[in-house]
Amino acid sequence: MKKSAMIAIAVVSTLGLIGSLVGQSNPRANEIQKWAVHDETRPMPSVVDPGPAGPPAPAPSDAVVLFDGTSLSQWMTAKGEPAKWKVENGYMEVAKGTGEIRTRSRFGDCQLHVEWASPAEVLGSSQSRGNSGVFLMGTYEVQVLDCYDNKTYADGMTASLYGQYPPLVNACRKPGEWQTYDIVFIAPRFDKAGQLVSPARMTVFWNGILAHNDQELTGPTAHMARPPYAVHADHLPIALQDHGNPVRFRNIWIRGL
Ligand code: MG
Repeated sequence: MKKSAMIAIAVVSTLGLIGSLVGQSNPRANEIQKWAVHDETRPMPSVVDPGPAGPPAPAPSDAVVLFDGTSLSQWMTAKGEPAKWKVENGYMEVAKGTGEIRTRSRFGDCQLHVEWASPAEVLGSSQSRGNSGVFLMGTYEVQVLDCYDNKTYADGMTASLYGQYPPLVNACRKPGEWQTYDIVFIAPRFDKAGQLVSPARMTVFWNGILAHNDQELTGPTAHMARPPYAVHADHLPIALQDHGNPVRFRNIWIRGL
């Protein structure tokens, strides 16, 4: 065989390998094309009992503690004012109408641990039952919702990458019980011209159960839309959503990657 032919074969097989790796890295790529945003007919994942809630997970020694149960000093409003959510008994609680809160520090690639609880008193249905959200870079939402016996659209249920991907399972605990998210987030990359080089990716464990496996995002999460990526800074605050429901959070820590 000629040397040029061997090189050509090597190049083709390398491209093939890269192609298959890319294919493997986004196994749900076809799924996103199949379902319109908030499609009511999109199947819900099966219910898995995660077992009882444990005590708060200890923060590793190299983590930045964003909320230790006593103070909102690490958090601010969208306008940069002190966060106005309620703090009591080791948790913070959404104060309806005061708006989202954001970390004063900014993060890119990270491992984020969040514990939350939807209200024990069940009020409302679908998206108005225990709605909040964890926004990586203030832009990419992992939905917080009470999905215990609560019908809603699949891509807006608890632990969904909102408007894009339902979680692989419904591991929701009962209303009022503490639940955990352990999120690995890889920020999108943009070139100097502001063009997307690589999309954002998320791995999410919900109550210790895999909900997203290195999932590519289509762009920012949004209501009734799947907008394309828009260039942004490589480090941005984490945000928690005020959706009008008194959702509680405790023990939030992060490790930059
Ligand atoms: Mg939400």
